[in-house]
Amino acid sequence: MNKFEVLHTDPHSAARTGLLTTAHGKVETPVFMPVGTAGAVKGITPQQLKETGCVLVLANTYHLLLRPGVETIETLGGLHKFMAWNWPILTDSGGYQVFSLSPLTKIDDDGVEFASHIDGTKIYLNAEIATKIQNRLAGDIIMCLDQCTPFPVDEPQLKKAVERTILWAKRAKQAHTSHGQLLFAIVQGGINLDLRTCCASELVKIDFDGYAIGGLSVGEGHNDMIKTLTHTTQHLPQDKPRYLMGVGTPNDIIAAVRAGVDMFDCVLPTRNGRNAFAFTENGSLRLRNNAHINDTRPIEAACDCYCCKNFSRAALRHFFNSGEMLGPILVSLHNLTFYQRLMAQIRQALKKNEFADWAKRVDY
Ligand SMILES: [Zn+2]
Repeated sequence: MNKFEVLHTDPHSAARTGLLTTAHGKVETPVFMPVGTAGAVKGITPQQLKETGCVLVLANTYHLLLRPGVETIETLGGLHKFMAWNWPILTDSGGYQVFSLSPLTKIDDDGVEFASHIDGTKIYLNAEIATKIQNRLAGDIIMCLDQCTPFPVDEPQLKKAVERTILWAKRAKQAHTSHGQLLFAIVQGGINLDLRTCCASELVKIDFDGYAIGGLSVGEGHNDMIKTLTHTTQHLPQDKPRYLMGVGTPNDIIAAVRAGVDMFDCVLPTRNGRNAFAFTENGSLRLRNNAHINDTRPIEAACDCYCCKNFSRAALRHFFNSGEMLGPILVSLHNLTFYQRLMAQIRQALKKNEFADWAKRVDY
C-alpha cells in the first residue's frame, strides 16, 4: 500500500502538498525536520519541540551507532522511547557522516570501513549492516546507505559513487525486513544531470517508499542546486515523497518546493540559534549586536513562540554576551518555530493556489 498521497498540485510549478502515513502518525508535506543529531535536538526538550509544530524529527544513525550504541538503545526500548518522542522519526543511514566526518580506512563495492571520530575505533558499514542497524533503532523512515562525494569531484569518481549507490540500494531493499518502516533510497550524481537521470531511473525500478536527493548544498551554489533538483524530480514518481537532504535556508526551501520537493532537514535553525542568529520574516537578526542593547521588542512581534512572548532582544543580547545558556535555547526555539511556520505558510499557499504570489511577496 502506498503510504503517500498527493493532496494538491500547484498549477504553476512542480510544487505539491501531500500526506505521508507512518507508524507513529501522519505527516503533512512539504515538511521540515529538525535534526536530533545524537538523539536530541540541541537545547530543546521534546515537549518544546512539539510546541513549535514539529511532527517529524531526524536522528543520525552514525552518531547513535558510536554512542551510546544500537544495543543500548534497543535495551532501553527503541529510539522513540530513548528520545521521548512519540511521533515520527527518520533515521539517516550514516553514510553522509562516514564520508564527511571520519577518516576512511577502506572503501570498495561491498562497503566502507572508517575510524570513529571519537576514539579511532574501526567500524565497518555496508548496505545490509546500515539497514539492520536502522531496523533495530526502529525509526519510522529509514535510508539506504549511499556513497557521498565532495564538491567538486572528478567525473569517474562521481560515476563510481552513483554505481555504488544503486548497488547498495538494491541490497538495502533486500535486507530490509521491518515492514512497519518506510525505506527511502538516495539519488546521487552531483550536478551532472545525466548521472542524476541514471541514478533516479535505476532506483525507481527497484521501487522504494520514497526518494531522497543527496549530494546537494555542498558548495555548488543555489542556482546549480535548483537546476539539479528541477531536473531530478522529473525522473521520480509523482506518488512517492521526495526528500532533499540537508537543506537549507528559507529561500532554498521555497525554491526546492517549487521544484517538487516534499521533505527537508537542516541544522540551520538550531546551529544559527546557538550563535545568536535569528530568522525573521524581515530578514535575519544578529542578537549580539550593540543595536539591541536597549531594544524592548521581541525577535518577531507576530511570533507566538515562548521566546517572542516573553523576552526582549535586549535580554537575549545580554544572555549571549554573558554566556547564559538560556540565550541559545530561546533563539533555537524561535528559529524552529519560524521554520515550522514557514512550512505551514507554504502548505496553506499551495492549498489556496496562491503559492507563486506568496513566494514573490516573501523575501527571507
Ligand atoms: Zn518567536
